[in-house]
Amino acid sequence: MTFDLTPEQDQLRDAVRALGRRYGHGYFVEKAKAGEHTTELWADAGRLGYLGVNIPTEYGGGGGGITELAIVCEELAAAGCPLLLLVVSPAIAATVLSRHGTEEQRKRHLPGLADGSQKIVFAITEPEAGSNFHRLGTVARPDGDGWLLNGRKCYISGVDEADHVLVVARTEDSSTGKLKPALFLVPTDAAGLTRSKLDMEIVSPENQFLLYLDDVRLPADALLGESLDAGLPALFAGLNPERITVAAMGAGTGRYAIERASEYTSTRKVWGGRSIGSHQGVSHPLAHAAVQVELARLMIQKAATLYDAGRDLEAGVAGNMAKYAAGEAAALAVDTAVQVLGGAGMTTEYGVATLLGAVRAGRIAPVSREMILNFVAQHVLGQDKSY
Ligand SMILES: Cc1cc2nc3c(=O)[nH]c(=O)nc-3n(C[C@H](O)[C@H](O)[C@H](O)COP(=O)(O)OP(=O)(O)OC[C@H]3O[C@@H](n4cnc5c(N)ncnc54)[C@H](O)[C@@H]3O)c2cc1C
Repeated sequence: MTFDLTPEQDQLRDAVRALGRRYGHGYFVEKAKAGEHTTELWADAGRLGYLGVNIPTEYGGGGGGITELAIVCEELAAAGCPLLLLVVSPAIAATVLSRHGTEEQRKRHLPGLADGSQKIVFAITEPEAGSNFHRLGTVARPDGDGWLLNGRKCYISGVDEADHVLVVARTEDSSTGKLKPALFLVPTDAAGLTRSKLDMEIVSPENQFLLYLDDVRLPADALLGESLDAGLPALFAGLNPERITVAAMGAGTGRYAIERASEYTSTRKVWGGRSIGSHQGVSHPLAHAAVQVELARLMIQKAATLYDAGRDLEAGVAGNMAKYAAGEAAALAVDTAVQVLGGAGMTTEYGVATLLGAVRAGRIAPVSREMILNFVAQHVLGQDKSY
């Protein structure tokens, strides 16, 4: 057992950290408040190869795994730039395409995802179905040589920045007549696809949308994979990378908040010559948060290692646990940072309250803490399902 990164992973961590610090949280917040995107940071990350670290080299990527992508997510977040679209485009879409796309789909999309010139976002959540994926109501019907899609999706991140949306729909299985899941690569400018932006209480340059699919006509090759049978495995292929990278983003955000807070509490003096950090009522909550973040990081490393070793089932358990732990730790770290900074904690200038909305959302999305507890209760503890 080793807890060390390889020299290449170490170099990647240092290089991404340097890029993140060049932009910093001030840039992230400025873009968010201006209603703009982190276009420059995304382009630099693509040019330097960080967006494609997990994409096979024959499609222009770095040939690494989710361990490398988790490093990218964590370090950018630790520099104050938690980019949610990393979780959607390189983690979910690129993995699904690499593992289950046709050769033609891989050639068409992966090089652009690797260099950052293309973004593919992911749409599964629906207003009626919510956490219950079995109730998905977006349906794809055969239409001539192609498909006709109808349905609604909600909270879909980054549609305004993306070229395509990977839409989870259902098709009729001709052998059983039952609806089974299938994934479709839908161009964001497809006729019949409209969107409305949701007002979210999150300081973020990335937006969420309601999507309306009204008779969206697609060619046959918009179906992801060689046949309808690719649907379910493709959907599951995206889940572990999603959980692991969103956890990494949470851990990075937690580190960022603790670092900001520690700098402040070690220099701020309001009672004679002692720093406020010398009071254990201030330092212990910070130390407690640091322990929680570090525990989450260990679990992320385990989950990524299992995933990259092809041990998908074990990675599923570890990835869910990592996501849970990191979501809780990030929320604790940011809340604690706000508290120990006092009034400064609520200012934009000190850059911690700006993360409250994002870390709160991290306990809900992309999978809620309750649904993870359900998963652990059923699959680890052998408990019956209540729903
Ligand atoms: C910032 C943000 C970005 C997002 N981006 C995307 C995206 O890009 N693509 C996408 O498809 N979706 C996205 N989502 C949606 C997200 O995945 C869902 O919000 C999440 O899965 C929860 O679904 P819901 O909101 O419908 O909650 P509901 O399913 O309505 O659940 C509400 C509450 O009830 C709890 N609950 C529900 N069922 C159970 C149960 N059986 N046991 C215990 N508790 C239960 C839930 O945990 C939750 O706390 C995003 C959401 C947010 C906030």
